[in-house]
Amino acid sequence: MTEHAVVIAGGGPTGLMLAGELALAGVDVAIVERRPNQELAGSRAGGLLSRTIEILDQRGIADRFLSEGQVAQVTGFASVRLDISDFPTRHNYGLGLWQNHIERILASWVRELKVPIYYGSEVTGFAQDDTGVDVQLSDGRSLRAEYLIGCDGGRSLIRKAAGIDFPGWDPTTSALLAQVEMTEEPETGIRRTPSGMHAIGKVEYEIKGGEVIYKKGGTVGVMLTESHVGNTNEPTLRDLSEGLIAVYGTDYGIHSPTWITRFTDMTRQAASYRDRRVLLVGDAAHVHSPVGGQGLNTGVQDAVNLGWKLAQVVKRTSPESLLDTYHAERHPIAARVLRNTMAQVALMRPDDRIEAARDTVAELLSMDEPRKRFAAMQSGLDIHYDFGEGHPLLGRRMPDLDLVTDNGPLRVFMLLHDARPVLLNFGEPGGFDITPWADRVQSIDAKYEGTWELPSIGVVTAPTAVLIRPDGYVAWVGDLAQVGLADALTTWFGPPTRQS
Ligand SMILES: Cc1cc2nc3c(=O)[nH]c(=O)nc-3n(C[C@H](O)[C@H](O)[C@H](O)COP(=O)(O)OP(=O)(O)OC[C@H]3O[C@@H](n4cnc5c(N)ncnc54)[C@H](O)[C@@H]3O)c2cc1C
Repeated sequence: MTEHAVVIAGGGPTGLMLAGELALAGVDVAIVERRPNQELAGSRAGGLLSRTIEILDQRGIADRFLSEGQVAQVTGFASVRLDISDFPTRHNYGLGLWQNHIERILASWVRELKVPIYYGSEVTGFAQDDTGVDVQLSDGRSLRAEYLIGCDGGRSLIRKAAGIDFPGWDPTTSALLAQVEMTEEPETGIRRTPSGMHAIGKVEYEIKGGEVIYKKGGTVGVMLTESHVGNTNEPTLRDLSEGLIAVYGTDYGIHSPTWITRFTDMTRQAASYRDRRVLLVGDAAHVHSPVGGQGLNTGVQDAVNLGWKLAQVVKRTSPESLLDTYHAERHPIAARVLRNTMAQVALMRPDDRIEAARDTVAELLSMDEPRKRFAAMQSGLDIHYDFGEGHPLLGRRMPDLDLVTDNGPLRVFMLLHDARPVLLNFGEPGGFDITPWADRVQSIDAKYEGTWELPSIGVVTAPTAVLIRPDGYVAWVGDLAQVGLADALTTWFGPPTRQS
C-alpha cells in the first residue's frame, strides 16, 4: 500500500492550493483526481478577487495569474459594481481569468513542488483509525495517509462518507449555463424578463494594449434562468435552443456545444469541517449561488488557512488541536458568504418591488462608507479572525508594506513566499529573542516610514512589532515588553524547543 502523510481527494483549485501549501512545508502529499488530466469542461469561475490575488502574491506566484488575465473592477454586490481602486492594497482590483486557466497555472506550480497527482482515479471510500486513514481508489488500489482531505467539490463523497451533515437551503432559482457556437451574431449583455436574468457573452478574448478584444465569431457563453426549479435531467442543446427562443425570440443558430450544465442557488454548509483525521475544504464544505464570484476564492483561502496548520501537526511541531482552529476560523467566513449570496439572489429576483429594493441598495452602495464596507467584504479584504481584544491588526491581514531591512528593501509578502511565519520588529533592532522558536519563525528587524491603513477600517496606529502567520494574518501585536508573545508563538507554532 502506498503511503503519504496527506492524501487530498480532488484536484480542483482548492485541492491544488492545499497541495502546494503542504509541499512548501515539506509534507509528503498526493492528490487523487477523478479527471484524466487538468482539463476542465466549461468556464465556471470567472476570476480572482483581491484577497486571493494577495494570497498568491504571498507565495510569489501572483504574476503568473496576472500576466494571463484581465485586471478589472469586478467586485460587486447584487450586480452593483464596487470600485476598490482607492483601497490600501497593491491589488486594488480583481482579475478576470477563467477557472480552467487558474487550475492550469496552479497545477504547474504544484508540479514544480513535485506533488504526485493520481489522475483518472477516484476516491471511492475510506476507513479511519487512531493512526491514519485507508483510502480506497476506483482502480482497486489503496493509499494510507495520516490525514485525508476532501477537496472533492459540492457533491463530496468524503463529506458524505464521513457522515458530516450538510444543512442549508434548497434552490429557489435554476439556470442553464453553456458554451456554444452561433451562426448569427447574438445580442450580448444582460437581459431581464419576468422569468429572471439572462446573459450572453463572448468567451474568447485577447488583450491588446491593455484592452480586451473579443474574438469575432468564436465560442459564446450563455446563461438562461429557467422557469422551473427542480429539473434534474442532463440539459441538452434543445433545452438551450427553446430557452433562447423564449427569451430572445431566436436561438441565433446555436450549434457545437462544448459544455451545457445547470446551476442553482442551493446554499449549504458542512456542520463540521473536521471528523478526526478527515477534513473538508472548498466546495466540499460550502456551496452557494455563484453570484458575486466568491466560491473558488473562498476555497483557495480555506486551503491557505489549513495548509500550514496541517503541516505543523503532521511534522509534530503542533498538537492536533491546532486543526480545530481551521473550522473555528473558516466556518464563520463561509457562513457569511452564504448569507451574502442569499441576499444577492433575493435582490436579483424579477419583481418590481425587489427591483425597487435593489435600486435602493445600489443607492446606498454609491455612498462611500457602505461601498467600502461591502467591497471589503466581497473582495475578502476585511476578514477578521477572532483572536480576542487588541490592536485592529490582530486577526486581520498583514498589509504588504515596503520595508527596509538589513538585507535591503523588501515587501512583507516576500517574507511569506516559503509559508514560514515571521516576527517583524519595527522597534529597537535586536529587541526580540525568540531562539526557542528560531527553527520555525523568522525574526526580522525592519523599518517602515508610511502610514498603516486597513481596508474599510482606515488608518491605524503603527505597531512596534507584529507576529504574522504563514497565511498572512496577524497573530500578535505588541512591543518590546513582549506581553503575550510566548503564548502566541506556542499557540500558533508549537511549544518552544528546549535549548541544551
Ligand atoms: C457557473 C459557475 C460560475 C462560478 N463563478 C465563480 C466565480 O466567478 N468566482 C468564484 O470564486 N467561484 C465561482 N464559481 C464557483 C467555483 O467554480 C467553485 O467554488 C470552485 O470550483 C470550487 O473549487 P473546489 O476545488 O473546492 O471544487 P471543484 O472545483 O468542484 O473541484 C473538485 C474536484 O474533485 C474531483 N473529484 C470529485 N469527486 C472526486 C472523488 N471521489 N475522487 C477524486 N476526485 C474527485 C473533481 O473532478 C474536481 O476536479 C462558479 C461556479 C459555477 C458553477
